[in-house]
Amino acid sequence: MNEIFPASRNLSRSSQDQSLVLRSTYKTSPAITICASFFRSFMPVSIYNKSPLDEPIPLIVVEGFLGGAGALVWGNFQDYMNISCEQPRRVIFANVGPVSSLHDRACELYYAMKGGTVDYGADHCKQHHHLQYGRTIDEGMYPQWSRDRPLHFLGHSLGAPTITKLQWLLSTGFFGNREHPDMILSVTSISAPFRGTQLVYALGEREDAAPAVRPISIGSAIAKVVHLVSFLSPYMPKLLDLHAESRSLSCREVSFSSLLEQLRKSEWTESRDAANFDVTFLAMDEREAYSEGLVNPRTFYRSHVACMTHKIGLDTNTHAPSLGFLLTLPLYLTSRIMGSFNFCLLRPIPSFLANIPYSPATTITPEKGPHTPADAHQRGLNEEYWANDGIVPVFSQWHPLDCSSTICRHYIPSGAANGSMDESLAKLKPEPGIWHVHQIEDAHHCSLAPRWSGTTRQKHFWEAMGRWLGNIDDDVGLIRVGFYF
Ligand SMILES: [Zn+2]
Ligand SMILES: [Zn+2]
Repeated sequence: MNEIFPASRNLSRSSQDQSLVLRSTYKTSPAITICASFFRSFMPVSIYNKSPLDEPIPLIVVEGFLGGAGALVWGNFQDYMNISCEQPRRVIFANVGPVSSLHDRACELYYAMKGGTVDYGADHCKQHHHLQYGRTIDEGMYPQWSRDRPLHFLGHSLGAPTITKLQWLLSTGFFGNREHPDMILSVTSISAPFRGTQLVYALGEREDAAPAVRPISIGSAIAKVVHLVSFLSPYMPKLLDLHAESRSLSCREVSFSSLLEQLRKSEWTESRDAANFDVTFLAMDEREAYSEGLVNPRTFYRSHVACMTHKIGLDTNTHAPSLGFLLTLPLYLTSRIMGSFNFCLLRPIPSFLANIPYSPATTITPEKGPHTPADAHQRGLNEEYWANDGIVPVFSQWHPLDCSSTICRHYIPSGAANGSMDESLAKLKPEPGIWHVHQIEDAHHCSLAPRWSGTTRQKHFWEAMGRWLGNIDDDVGLIRVGFYF
């Protein structure tokens, strides 16, 4: 697997230079650390920029597609995350739409923290034909959230691109000029579909006509359940809250015949403002065309990449899951489908296929059978496009944008028996403005989160997570009191 996870994939010379600058900027010495700690103890709280109670900076958890059970499912990971902390870190589960688009989820995430009426933006709503305003949140979960009081974020699956979408919106001034991408101090992703997933096509999205969905498909069935739940939302338990107010789909707003029409063909699911479209490669290319997802120089990024497959193709880079994963049968089956997916079916051709230059090695000869030019391109794709965790291909879990268009560092897996991160890596000094990509071998989409099963791997992950967040808090303290700038 090492060839698909090279030790370093920092791209351009300028990117390398930039990361070097950042590294030198944050270099510290024990003497400075001791001095900073001493002076920090005399600092007024308003300068040190922690909460009034001087608590560790809270961690916001953003769940993935169909998520929303919070601590009920995630379990007691906090016990392990706080092992190395003097003071327990507060964890806040963000309440966002479990099936909403990335844009809508990002807006809901912002207002869940700050409070107020959810505003999806006039232009966005005009383009996508839903109401501009959603629910009103009387009291945000962290109303003091600002550039001076930033927060840590962790996203599982679709939760992670929700966070990077929010940071993108903050950088564009979507929420006003007072807000800033620095408000997101760190981003930790677990099995995130930053760059889409071929699974969405297997579930029903049309390969040649996204966002259209095949009428007889799992995706279409999910859409029908979503509409039924939305229609009956006034009588549904809180656990089934879909945040669909702006869609006007409840029985108090639309007729039964309107529901039947949506069950026949869902305007929401088959729009470009839906979670399923957001994880297509077409949507990925549209986002990346204007560099959405570029790193913010003062945010700390770390991605955790799960992989449950190994290479099986002789003259291709296709993958298949190990038989041990038969115990998680649904993921085993989806992993098999993804591991042999034919990317050549996609129209328009995704940029990662279209950008592969022709070469004798990738050109198909007549004796190998009739193929389209796209087939030839596919032969040039690396195996990370087929390697997967049952839901997301490996290349998509790395980070937004191609390695040549962002700043990243990929770490070779440790080979630890429990599949956890290498201890030496876990203790690495935090470094902002660069994606640190960690691979987890023999792991599926839910091995680390969301379901707590108390495995050694989960315990090690959360312990390392606690140490990493603590180190960032310490670094931020040093920077803010003026030792570095
Ligand atoms: Zn929307
Ligand atoms: Zn990379």
